[in-house]
Amino acid sequence: MRSVCLPPTRRLLRCLLPGAPAAMNRSFSLDVSAPLLRTQALVDGCWVSAAAAFPVLDPATGEEIARVTDCGPAEAKQAVEAAHRAFGSWKQTTAKERSQLLRKWFDLLTQHTEDLAKLITFESGKPLREARGEVSYGASFLEWFSEEARRVYGDIVPSPARDRKILLLKQPVGVASIITPWNFPNAMITRKVGAALAAGCTVVVKPAEDTPLSALALAELAQQAGFPAGVVNVVPCSRERTPSVGAVLCTDPLVDKISFTGSTATGKLLLKMAADTVKRASMELGGHAPFIVFDSADLDKAVGGAMASKFRNSGQTCVCSNRFLVQRGVYDRFMEKMGVAMEAELRLGHGADPDTTQGPLINARAAEKVATQVADAVSRGASVLRGGKRVGVSFMEPTLLAGVTTEMLCMKEETFGPLLPVLRFDTEEEALAIANASSVGLAGYFYSQDLSQVWRVAEALQVGLVGVNEGLLSTPEAAFGGVKQSGLGCEGSKYGIREYLEVKYMCLGGLRP
Ligand code: NAP
Repeated sequence: MRSVCLPPTRRLLRCLLPGAPAAMNRSFSLDVSAPLLRTQALVDGCWVSAAAAFPVLDPATGEEIARVTDCGPAEAKQAVEAAHRAFGSWKQTTAKERSQLLRKWFDLLTQHTEDLAKLITFESGKPLREARGEVSYGASFLEWFSEEARRVYGDIVPSPARDRKILLLKQPVGVASIITPWNFPNAMITRKVGAALAAGCTVVVKPAEDTPLSALALAELAQQAGFPAGVVNVVPCSRERTPSVGAVLCTDPLVDKISFTGSTATGKLLLKMAADTVKRASMELGGHAPFIVFDSADLDKAVGGAMASKFRNSGQTCVCSNRFLVQRGVYDRFMEKMGVAMEAELRLGHGADPDTTQGPLINARAAEKVATQVADAVSRGASVLRGGKRVGVSFMEPTLLAGVTTEMLCMKEETFGPLLPVLRFDTEEEALAIANASSVGLAGYFYSQDLSQVWRVAEALQVGLVGVNEGLLSTPEAAFGGVKQSGLGCEGSKYGIREYLEVKYMCLGGLRP
């Protein structure tokens, strides 16, 4: 495998952070094999350029790492047409053929883990160890759906009439528009595209402006795996062009389905656009996860779970714990142990530094949002036990807040950053009322050793995923999706593929009994 020769200014990135400790100011190189560093769009099996290009920035340094072609509505339309043409033959392939191609794609991701991880780290800021984990997680959906492809069964239903048979057929929906966020630039694509291709759909992917390189590397590997032209299309674009590209992907009559992961606000916008042509829609939207520690909890496990669910990707996951509710009897000990764990385990830095556990936030605006929530909480009486300050442009110190109340901003909106605000409560009813007082419901976590409480609380929490004495839940075998305004439908599991299938009732009549 050849190593790409980028101009030296692009290869060697110096992490210069005003006010940061000297150890953070080091040089790191983005060294990936040439074929994986794609900067053009993939349309109908060809790498194509639009008239303009947009920069991709390393969020740790603000330095440009690549320029990517900036697709507009014309390229989006071409991609939709290509996907529509390809659907005609792709839907005729056997489940086994689709399964084999998906398996090949999975193998290629696994082979190229290191390069794919570097791309994730340099364009999203995620620490390299976590980025490797994301590639493995992303690949696992291709493996899972390569297996699920062969298990799409229809039904033969007992008929009320002797001269008729009732069959329920499962058929692919058609062309799927896939719109994804920057926080999991690899896995949010494979979780959708794996299911869509397994079902027999074709796709047009629009990645986030911040992270097109991971999407294009996945497209390159899809090409290498041998997917026919037009089955997988990727149209990167700048934030300025996103609305016009999004309009094509959500309104074009040739698109049958939209699958979106991102904020609830954007999800609502896309749903409105898709309504006119009654497209099928899957929505994985924002969360505001409660993390409840009851008096009976194993505190060391609770602290371990809190560290994992809060600080992964510097707090930028939709299932990150956002609101910590700790019962009075264990509050002081929990706060002490939490502080010790944060001090021992969290280290800010460039994601490419092997010692880093906390990379930058995606941009300055994201860091500003966390700082604003901290200032708001402090102005309303909370105290900062650890952290609390911005570092450089896009870093934020992991922050522990005590004395938090429900009136504070951090308890009302998703933080998407390394802020751990803790509210003290007295009763289970009180904790549940606070946890459920939200318009969204994606993940929720609680720690308890009381079996009756475990059942009661797991059933009562208004969320799509619940972690009981566990802080990390995601796996391709399980269903991932939210309730309330956290989304529609789910991904992964045996249910994920259904999002890309229609059920057709076939009545076979006129039979001689
Ligand atoms: P976002 O602003 O909604 O962006 C997500 C994607 O939508 C990006 O590709 C964005 O493109 C695109 N987009 C924005 N406006 C659009 C439009 N008018 N038409 C078509 N596409 C449009 O979300 P984000 O801030 O990147 O991601 C964070 C949010 O995602 C959080 O709320 C998080 O909880 C949620 N999330 C949910 C899940 C889940 O599984 N439920 C998983 C991960 C993240 P640009 O990049 O060009 O703006």
